[in-house]
Order: sequence, then C-alpha cells, then structure tokens
Amino acid sequence: MLLSPLQLYIHIPYCIHKCHYCDFNSHVRDKIDWQAYQHALISELTTWAKHPAYQGRKIYSIFFGGGTPSLAPSSLIASLLEHAQALFGFEHDIEITLEANPGTVDMDAFQGFYNAGINRLSMGVQSLDGQELQWLERIHSRDEVYQAFDVARAVGFQNINLDLMYGLPKQSLEQWQSSLDAVIALGAEHLSCYQLTVEPHTKLAVRHAAAPYALPDDELSLAFFHDTRDCLANAAYEAYEISNFSQQGRRCRHNDGYWLYHDYIGIGAGASGKWDDEQGHTHRYSNHKSPETYMKHVSSMGQSMLSDECLSCDDAAAEALWIGLRRREGIDDVWFKQRFHQSILDYFQQDLDTWLQSQHLQWKGQQLQLTNTGIPLADAIASAVF
Ligand code: SF4
Repeated sequence: MLLSPLQLYIHIPYCIHKCHYCDFNSHVRDKIDWQAYQHALISELTTWAKHPAYQGRKIYSIFFGGGTPSLAPSSLIASLLEHAQALFGFEHDIEITLEANPGTVDMDAFQGFYNAGINRLSMGVQSLDGQELQWLERIHSRDEVYQAFDVARAVGFQNINLDLMYGLPKQSLEQWQSSLDAVIALGAEHLSCYQLTVEPHTKLAVRHAAAPYALPDDELSLAFFHDTRDCLANAAYEAYEISNFSQQGRRCRHNDGYWLYHDYIGIGAGASGKWDDEQGHTHRYSNHKSPETYMKHVSSMGQSMLSDECLSCDDAAAEALWIGLRRREGIDDVWFKQRFHQSILDYFQQDLDTWLQSQHLQWKGQQLQLTNTGIPLADAIASAVF
C-alpha cells in the first residue's frame, strides 16, 4: 500500500463581510464564540487521530483556510498546532500556512501567528486598484495591502502568497498588468491568479442575472491568461500549476499535495478529508457547513460529517489524472501504476488519444503533461476522462 504524506486542513468559517462573488463556506456573525469553535476543532481532530487511515502518520503540511483565519485569536492557532503535534507529530520541515485578509491585520496578531508556528502567509489581495477592490466588496484598501505586507515581513514571514483576481467587469489588460506589476514589486514568494467566475447562489450571480456585467469573452479571457503567464515568467515565477506561480522552492506544499492526490484530514465547518484504502479505493468526507451545526454535532459525536463517499479504483484513477494534469510536470506514470495497478494508457488510451494527437497533451519521459496549447483546455481534457 502506497502511503502518501499527510496534510491537515483547518477551516475557520467566519468573515467580517461576505464579498458578493464569494462561494466559499464563510459566514458573518455579530458575535463569534472562538472558545467553542476551538474546542470543537480539537475534539474533531482527536476523533480523526484515532481513525485507522490516519493513525501513526506524521503531518507534513497544515493549512488554515477560510473564511478569514486571520480573524481568529492567535491563542486558537497555537492551541490547534500544539494538539496536532501531540496527536500526530510533525515532519521536521512542516509548512504551516494561514490565510489572512489585509483588512484584519495588526502587528500583534501577526506576531502571535508567527510565534504560534505559522511559517507561511497567504493574503487575499485580489487587486491593487482601489475601484476594483470596492467593486469586489473587499474590506481593505490598496494601502492596507501594502501595510499588511510590511507588517508580515517585519514580523519575520519569509514565505508569502498573494491571491489575485483578473477578468473583472470592464477591466482592461493594462489595468490587470498594473496590479501584477505592483505585486511583483512587492516580491511575494508565491502568487495565485484566478479569473473571476460568477458562481451560482452568490449575490454576484443574482446581480449578474438582473443586469449582466461586461465580463471578458473567450478571446479576452485567453489574453488575460497568457499575459499573466508571460509577465510572471519574465519576473522569474514558475507556473507550476495552471493558476499558481512561485519563486524557486516556494511552491505551496498544501495545494501541491492536493494535486498529487495525497491524503488529508479536514476539520472545521464545511471542511473535507480524503484517504486511500488498501484496496485502492478513495474515501472522502465533508462536514456540515454551518458553524453552529458543526459545533453541535462535534460536541455530541466528536465529528460532524454531512456526507461521505467511496470512489472505486477506476473513478479514483480518473480523478487523480484530472487533478494531476494541473501541475506543470503533469502526472507520473510510475506513481500511477503503483497506485492504480495499471498505467495511464491502460485506463484512458481511448479518451486521451485525440488530445495526444492534437499535441494538447504530451509524454515527457514517464510524465503525461499538458502542452502550452493544452493548458487553457485543461477543463475540456479533464471532462474527456472524468
Ligand atoms: S474574505 Fe474571502 S472568504 Fe470571506 S467573504 Fe470575502 S472572498 Fe469569501
């Protein structure tokens, strides 16, 4: 049985304001009972530590995501890390990321996170244009991004990601370029650049249906995509995944592990987890999304699963291929054979032949990967196998 490194995801589901485009599991509350939420997280983590799939495995990456984890008291973060270390043990070079909103930052809070053991920050910046930030309903200004970045550096963070968004209504390539230039000048170690999408059930979707926004057509979307890659390549950022760029040695271990189909524990409201069993099946679970329901269930049962599923070996193979192709290196056929007992082509030759012949996919040694022309078609290629 091939055991992957183990990751831990901890969801902090609270935000000060719900941005209108957001479909993450985030909730606005007048008052947050942090102690109760901390108690529930520790209780759920203790439950998972006894699960045979996770028992005895050290953690090599932890990610506090949200919501807005930087709203949480640093004592909560410190306590969670202490418990995780006691229950599982940490690999010596563990990467521990916390998502931060530049509008919630002060020196004491960042110092507290740093002292607690956080060694990577991921800041939701989205734009460095004041009007765009307003349209996005972000709670921070352009100046606050700079202040937050300076505070993070002053506290000692040497590994920082900035999340950015392009393809906003009426946004020109030049406007996007100036946000990109500004973040490159900051020198963050990692950048995530995603195109705005109108997700169902968001306020943005309702507004867009009532009075459609001028969103980019396919041609302009492709221009945003290619300009981003060219600009960041010139600034020595490696496009190691379709939307993620890093300086050398600064890939996000948590996300990379997800694309490598590693096992992970997810705790908190709306979090999900995954493990592979000895028969080659993949198990997956998701928690209740409401923080109140989550806490109620955990206090009586030690966990708060809303759903779980078991993927057959064939379905898991398709999923691993689909996710793995997002990485620049693509997917390793040697690993694939070990994990799924057949090669990629044994499983998917018919589905992949057209894409190989049209040179949207290629073999590089044992790696099956997207070509430059295939990268923008990743979703279409994925749907051929999944
Ligand atoms: S801050 Fe992030 S998680 Fe919170 S509502 Fe805005 S986009 Fe969603």
